[in-house]
Amino acid sequence: MTESDRSETAAVPGDRPEALFAALFERARAVMPGGCSRNTVLRKPYPLYAARGEGCYIIDLAGTRRIDFANNMASLIHGHAPAKIVEAVRKQVGLGTGYTMATEVEIEYAEHLVARVPSFDKIRFVNSGTEAVMTAIKASRACTGKRKIAKVEGAYHGLYDYAEVSQTSNPGNWGSENRPESIPVAFGTPPAALADVVIIPFNDFPRAEAILEEFKDELACVLIDPVPHRVGMIPASKSFLYGLRDWTRRNDVLLVCDEVITFRCDRGGAQTMLGIEADLTALGKMIGGGFPVGAVGGRDDVMRVLDPLAERVLFPHSGTFSANPVTMVAGKVAMEAFDEQAVSRLNELGRLARSSLAEAAAAADCPAAVAGAGSMFRIHLADELPQNYRQAFPSPQQVRAMQVFVDHMVDNGILMINTCSGMLSTPMQAREIEILAETAEGAFRKAREVLA
Ligand code: PMP
Repeated sequence: MTESDRSETAAVPGDRPEALFAALFERARAVMPGGCSRNTVLRKPYPLYAARGEGCYIIDLAGTRRIDFANNMASLIHGHAPAKIVEAVRKQVGLGTGYTMATEVEIEYAEHLVARVPSFDKIRFVNSGTEAVMTAIKASRACTGKRKIAKVEGAYHGLYDYAEVSQTSNPGNWGSENRPESIPVAFGTPPAALADVVIIPFNDFPRAEAILEEFKDELACVLIDPVPHRVGMIPASKSFLYGLRDWTRRNDVLLVCDEVITFRCDRGGAQTMLGIEADLTALGKMIGGGFPVGAVGGRDDVMRVLDPLAERVLFPHSGTFSANPVTMVAGKVAMEAFDEQAVSRLNELGRLARSSLAEAAAAADCPAAVAGAGSMFRIHLADELPQNYRQAFPSPQQVRAMQVFVDHMVDNGILMINTCSGMLSTPMQAREIEILAETAEGAFRKAREVLA
């Protein structure tokens, strides 16, 4: 090990990273609102600036090395710069990065994903999860001839006007549990968009059904994330999921699953894990092998609305970078390597992470409950697991405790998502989980003081 390697192995910041990062942030703020292009990278008082990633480690510009449990917001299933993907992408980049021509690798990757997910007869690629959800919603409208959508309160589905309604509603505006209000995220959201989004509570089928019944003749789809991160990362209960599947079938409404994150849960995504088949599914993140991606897959008769060869084209659909060969090559290599065996090994590690974190909280005597599924976890600084967005909504004290928790982790060599969540990657071993839990014990002790 060289001297420079050694300085990177400890979670000890290098020379005055504060000054370095503060100066970069100042430059950034001069040219970008808030000093960034994605709010997720912001931290107080300034973001960390990355130098490089190596497997399950990420090294910042000050030379501090951390285990990466954020994995670019769940998009890096094999960690950073996996050799096979780097090699395949390098070769493709030399051959060109995009053509106004179709490619064979797009067909190969489509074949792989259609074979992988029981509910897919057909698939189309786009460039982000936002675009995938938008495409699924527009396809639902085109297919059913109806306009409204229903979605779960607090669930994140990207930036499309309709998909983001009530993603950030709060106790001051969310209204009654029997009829949650449709609350905009962005100022200027057209009232017509709000009027076309029906909000249902998570994991409460009787309440959700009562709301859906009222709008059944106007609904194109029910959009659902089977393990919604922002809602608390609790898997959808069978009664909720099967209830929605059955209700949508009976009422000529499509069931759209957003598996942008949850696809990692099983070989065929959380649908396979939970035993349902959606009519349409939005994918993104990890299926790009580290590159920007999205996809919509589903039943042939629904996907047909996207067919430009049809006599009447119901939903003309295109995108300059859709199915670009770099993403296709990287995604195909990544997903082929994330086979049945890799999925179950990573899920086993996920179980270990959740139980080790719960033990660390108990050892620190901190109120905490660990949610998650597959290779994902989310720590709630509360006595019990929340069952929906309203229960998961943190008090100001919990917000402070979460901040203290995540800061302690970052200062001690662990990068996490700032909701106290983490995503595993295949280069991880039991050792990384052990370090996660050891570090978390200190974080739980600090959080306990804030909560006391
Ligand atoms: N759906 C879900 C469940 C997501 O978590 C995200 C991104 N966090 C999106 C959609 C949007 O994906 P993207 O950021 O690629 O637009």
